[in-house]
Amino acid sequence: MKKFFFLIVLISISLIFGCTPKTDNTSEETTEQAVENPIIKKIAELKAAGYEIVDYHGHLKGGLTMEELLEHSKETGIDYGVAFNAGIGFPITNDSSLEATMKLYKHYPVYMAMQAEGREWVDMFSKEKIDMFDYVFTDAMTWTDSKGRRMRLWMPEEVFVDDKEDFMDQLVSKIVGVMSEEPIDIYVNSTFLPDTLQPEYDALWTPDRMDKVINAAVANNIAIEINSRYKIPSATFIKRAKAAGVKFSMGTNNVGNELGTLDYSIAMIGECGLEPGDFFKPVKK
Ligand SMILES: [Zn+2]
Repeated sequence: MKKFFFLIVLISISLIFGCTPKTDNTSEETTEQAVENPIIKKIAELKAAGYEIVDYHGHLKGGLTMEELLEHSKETGIDYGVAFNAGIGFPITNDSSLEATMKLYKHYPVYMAMQAEGREWVDMFSKEKIDMFDYVFTDAMTWTDSKGRRMRLWMPEEVFVDDKEDFMDQLVSKIVGVMSEEPIDIYVNSTFLPDTLQPEYDALWTPDRMDKVINAAVANNIAIEINSRYKIPSATFIKRAKAAGVKFSMGTNNVGNELGTLDYSIAMIGECGLEPGDFFKPVKK
């Protein structure tokens, strides 16, 4: 009974002295939250171990401002590459709009990335203006199949799969074509499959198909994105690519104002034994 009373006294003292009313110092609260968040703790540990934690595929979308992105960067410890979409049907369609975007944001402490869209971009911009960006990337989600049907793989109504194996062979040859013909630094949204084929990802991405993509990346010195939004490529693919000498980048590809914390990309570091030297690193211009 005495022990119980003593405990009550102790709890009361800690309540009186320990839980002072919350101040309006929000940055202090943010720091406390950050320390408690396991992924933010993990990011700090990885950085201490020599990894650069950069989300090379951030977008100013859903009203997100550069200031808000930098605040998120401060809270999480993630550095950013901010990508601007350029190509037919996008805000940037020529040299002057490309250069204007660069001028608007180049003084911010982020990497400036050009996300090249569609296959026509190669002829829409001059090398001089493209070279203003720290790096360029594209994906293979937009292409025209052997029957002339233009597909955007993330739009279910624009996807045509008559035969799964034939679809996969065409997809792989498109990816290899993009890597061989387009001057990019990173291939993003890598190994993405449309919704209908997603459940069969492991069976459809055969060793032979993986190797074609991996070999093209090595031959053209192109990094492959580990994408946290779609959770691709699989660990099997990443391990195979690492063994072949491929470099990787981490990316979110946010469609709204939520940047996230690169959870899948960071999990793959541990699962696939990736080392700091396995990652892509651009030169900041
Ligand atoms: Zn993107």
